[in-house]
Amino acid sequence: MNVSLAIDVGATKVAVGLVTLSGQVLARIDVNSKAGSIAELNGSLADAIKSVMATPDVVVVGAGIGSAGPIDNVKGTINPVNIPHWVDFSLVDFVREVSGLASVRIIGDASALAYAEFVLGAGRGATNLMGIVVSTGIGGGVVLNGAFHVGRTGNAGMIGHSVVVQGGNECACGQRGCVEAYSSGTNMAKDFGAANFEAVASAARSGDGAAVAAIEKGAAVLALGLLNAVALMDLDTIVVGGGVMLADDVYWPILVKHFEKEMKVLNFPGNVALKKATLGKDSGLVGAGLVGFISPTERA
Ligand SMILES: [Zn+2]
Repeated sequence: MNVSLAIDVGATKVAVGLVTLSGQVLARIDVNSKAGSIAELNGSLADAIKSVMATPDVVVVGAGIGSAGPIDNVKGTINPVNIPHWVDFSLVDFVREVSGLASVRIIGDASALAYAEFVLGAGRGATNLMGIVVSTGIGGGVVLNGAFHVGRTGNAGMIGHSVVVQGGNECACGQRGCVEAYSSGTNMAKDFGAANFEAVASAARSGDGAAVAAIEKGAAVLALGLLNAVALMDLDTIVVGGGVMLADDVYWPILVKHFEKEMKVLNFPGNVALKKATLGKDSGLVGAGLVGFISPTERA
């Protein structure tokens, strides 16, 4: 069976596995990214890669990496903010060397989710799609005219750092007024004065007006960002995933309300489908794996 080697670089762990074309994950190993040293981290990652590749009865045709940003898909380097050992780390070269695979492609983690949802999840059948992740930050990925679009450096779809409030709240990226500065789970929690979004959602569930207001504010700003994305790219589908969607019972109706309100302003797109991601927590790993199948002559 043909499979691809999939690597998903997240905030606290690096998931390594094999992914089939139908999105099945085989032989998954999670590597702790908070290792004591870069040698320890790289050693554990190399062991995990070799171990999953030793799975019997498979042919590994290529590798795909989805990584927390920013990435540089031309140089093949990553700079994940939560993994201090890896600064300008050439993960593509590392994986090529350890795995012996010639084709190793890298994309952003949110792009990986968007691609997985487009191929196998809520975005199936879409032609112009944006997939977004609402979590501690906000990321996104884009499919245009039915093809995965990564942009010049691999960071297309970074909706979290599109500016919607001139001179607005300071964002972790250094700009002011980014969508993420209002709409991430972390910033909605900060607005309410809670440690995390789970606490906001739980307070909102029990009718806390301030918690509902914090979610309303975050969702309203995200809806503006989505409006801009639709206006720029004439999208037909938006898929929303990420940790905040674990509380979709309180979050989703509010986001839908603000999105529909904003969309009334645009007169050209007709119905833009706003959908919940369906592939769950493995979507990043699956998306990375699917990208690993793309032939080297195609731009991943
Ligand atoms: Zn920003």
